[in-house]
Amino acid sequence: MHFTVEAQKFASSCLAEGSIAIDATCGNGFDTLFLSEQVGCTGVVYGMDIQVRAIEAVRQKLIDADRFNRCRLIADCHSKMKSHIDPIHAGRVSVAMFNLGYLPYGDKAIVTRSESTLAALDQALELVRPGGLISVLAYPGHAGGVEEAQCVADWVHNRGEQLAVKRFQDGNNSNSPILWVLTRI
Ligand code: SAM
Repeated sequence: MHFTVEAQKFASSCLAEGSIAIDATCGNGFDTLFLSEQVGCTGVVYGMDIQVRAIEAVRQKLIDADRFNRCRLIADCHSKMKSHIDPIHAGRVSVAMFNLGYLPYGDKAIVTRSESTLAALDQALELVRPGGLISVLAYPGHAGGVEEAQCVADWVHNRGEQLAVKRFQDGNNSNSPILWVLTRI
């Protein structure tokens, strides 16, 4: 299974022209570009990354794709997500995507961490509309990744009444990424 593609497939089923979406970890911008296409010219995509370098690269990709005007890029920790979202979009977000870990080919020391990830997930849950979706792709294969994935698993478990949960992992590989697709009830 290609987990990033799978996450996008589920996300697309919740998105339409005019939707509001959040990419909580822009990285190289693949999910931001995908979301910006899905929401059309009347939608809004918030893209966050803690690395200015990543945000600048994504900005250029969006400009090249002629979709920058529907995106709001934020170089900040996603634990401050709520403070960056226009209050008129609170409770109206259709999709929030989290692709955890570090930037491929980037600085592996700059990596998502459990505490800020959970704080961001709490805020995403407040921002997403009923029927909307949060996707979380976690990587147990890197240092700290097992602990972060366990924290996400516990977070999901403790919100069973608010979320319909789908979980995917390659059962033959204990280091396999884990994808949670969480629909807000
Ligand atoms: N979705 C991206 C893509 O399509 O290329 C890949 C994301 S990459 C696996 C993880 C990203 O999370 C990195 O770019 C890293 O800088 C970012 N990151 C790490 N900690 C963060 C934090 N606290 N808040 C926001 N972004 C963070």
